[in-house]
Amino acid sequence: MASTTQVKTYLAYWFQLGKKLVWRGGEEIFLPQPIIQGDRFSSQFEECWQKVISIGGKDCYLEGSQETVEDLLSSGWDIDGCARCDMPVAVVGSGIQSLDCICSDLDNWPNDELPKPRSPVSNKTQLNKIRARLGNK
Ligand SMILES: [Zn+2]
Repeated sequence: MASTTQVKTYLAYWFQLGKKLVWRGGEEIFLPQPIIQGDRFSSQFEECWQKVISIGGKDCYLEGSQETVEDLLSSGWDIDGCARCDMPVAVVGSGIQSLDCICSDLDNWPNDELPKPRSPVSNKTQLNKIRARLGNK
């Protein structure tokens, strides 16, 4: 089962590549921008995420994928790195990627020349990393 943080990151990463979120089977399409603001997720993204989570991700899915956010939050699914492009993708709990990665319908992906999607840099995490590094010496 994927954690809500993993699912949130999954959406954030794909939004950064321009993948849109289909809301309730197509009633609306969301693509919040920007995703990252400074060292945190933007209010636009947080707002979109809150909307999705408020209905438990029911009938919300990324363009080109079959799995809804509700599926991802259920016990049968997990999130893993795509074998082709390293992006977070939905896998059936047993670790098998169910379908082609949704990156397959992006013409310009994988692309080493584009900046990779990322999570906001947390100062606290950075600090802990530095601490750990110092501790190892
Ligand atoms: Zn991929």
